[in-house]
Amino acid sequence: MISYGKQTLDKTDIDAVIEVLNGAWLTQGPFVKKFEDDLKKNFKAEYVCAVSNGTAALHLTALALGWGENDYVILPPITFLSTANCIVYAKAIPVFVDIDSYTYCLNPNLVEEKVKYLRKNGKNVKAIIGVDYAGHPCDWESLRSIADYYDLILVNDNCHAIGAEYKNDFCYSLKYADVVCHSYHPVKPFTTGEGGAVLTNNSFIDKKVRLLRTHGVIKNPKEIDHFEGPWYYEMVDIGFNYRITDFQCALGSNQLKKLKKFLKRRRQIALKYKNAFRKKIPEILLPKCANDINHGYHLFPILVDFDNYEIDKVTFFRKMYNTGINLQVHYIPLHFQPFYMENYGYKKGDFIVAEEFYKKEISLPIYPGLTNKELSFVIDSINKYLK
Ligand SMILES: *Cc1c(COP(=O)(O)O)cnc(C)c1O
Repeated sequence: MISYGKQTLDKTDIDAVIEVLNGAWLTQGPFVKKFEDDLKKNFKAEYVCAVSNGTAALHLTALALGWGENDYVILPPITFLSTANCIVYAKAIPVFVDIDSYTYCLNPNLVEEKVKYLRKNGKNVKAIIGVDYAGHPCDWESLRSIADYYDLILVNDNCHAIGAEYKNDFCYSLKYADVVCHSYHPVKPFTTGEGGAVLTNNSFIDKKVRLLRTHGVIKNPKEIDHFEGPWYYEMVDIGFNYRITDFQCALGSNQLKKLKKFLKRRRQIALKYKNAFRKKIPEILLPKCANDINHGYHLFPILVDFDNYEIDKVTFFRKMYNTGINLQVHYIPLHFQPFYMENYGYKKGDFIVAEEFYKKEISLPIYPGLTNKELSFVIDSINKYLK
C-alpha cells in the first residue's frame, strides 16, 4: 500500500538507535541534550526543549505563555486537531479565522479584522497560532506586524514545514514567531517515532516548558531555599511527564542530518506531479508557492472539483485504495468537529474558503522513499479515474 506519508529510514538510523539501547541511558541521558543542541544549531534557536510529541509541545507552549480563561487565541480551521486542542487544554478560547486561497494558510487581513472586532468588544486576544500548512510558510511578515501592533504573542505550528524556506531563510520560523512547535511523527519531515520540540529565543518560556515537561519539579540546589540533601526535589508547579527517550533522540539527531536531502527529494516529487498534471489533467488545482518561499512539501494537496466529474470523491478514494494507494484529506475543518460546534458555537458556513478547500482537497503520496515507479503508478491511476 502506498500511503500519503511515511518515514524514511536507513541502516545508519537503526545503528544509532541500537547504540543507545546498548548503553547506560534509555531516557534522561546525554542523547536528549545532544538532539536539543543539534536542533538549536540547525534552526538558530537559543533554546530547544525536546518533548514526547508535537501535541505536548503545543500544550506546554500554551501553558508557558500563560493562556487561561477568557483569553482568545486565533488559528486557522485547516490544521490538525492539536493546534486548537492546546488552546482548550489551557482553558482559553479558540478563534478560527479563514485561510487564504493561495497559500492555504491564515489570511492576515482576516486575522487583523478579527483582532480589531474582538478588542472592540472587550475581549482579551492573547495570541495567534500560524500553521505552515503542507510545508508552505504563512505570510509571517504580515502576521508579525499584526502581532506587534496589537501586542500579541505569535506561535508557529511548524510541524509541516520543518526545513521549508521563507525569504530564502531555512531558519525563518524563530525570526518571526515567539515560539515554534515541531512534531517528529513518522509522516513529518523527519522522525523520532513519536516526538516533538518547543523552540524559542525567550529564556522564561523555555524554563517554564522544561519545568512542566517533568512534573513541575526542580532539583537544582541553587534554585531551592531549603535544600535537604542529594535526594531532594521540590514540585513547584503542576506538570506532566512529557519526556522523550534517548533512543528516540539518537534517531532524531541522525535523521536531522538528512533533512536537506529529504526535502530535495520531496521537491523533486512535487515537480514531477506538477509537470504530469499540467500536461494530463490541467483542471486539477496544484499547490502554489508564493515567490519568496521554498515549499517543504510535507503534503502535496491537490484540489479537484468533483462537480465536473462523473466520479465522486468517495468512489475515487475507494478505487484508488483498491489499486493500492491510500490517499488522505488534510483536513476536515476544525469548526466542523462536533466538539468545537457544541462548545464554541461554530457552524457550517462560517469559513467558506476552508470549506471549499475541504470539499476539493486530496493529499497525494509524497515522502523521500517514494520511488519513481510508485510515483508514475500514482499519476497513471489518478489519470485513469479523473479523465
Ligand atoms: C502532526 C501535527 C501536530 C501534532 O503532532 P503529534 O506529534 O502527532 O502530536 C500538530 N500540528 C500539526 C499541524 C501537525 O501536523
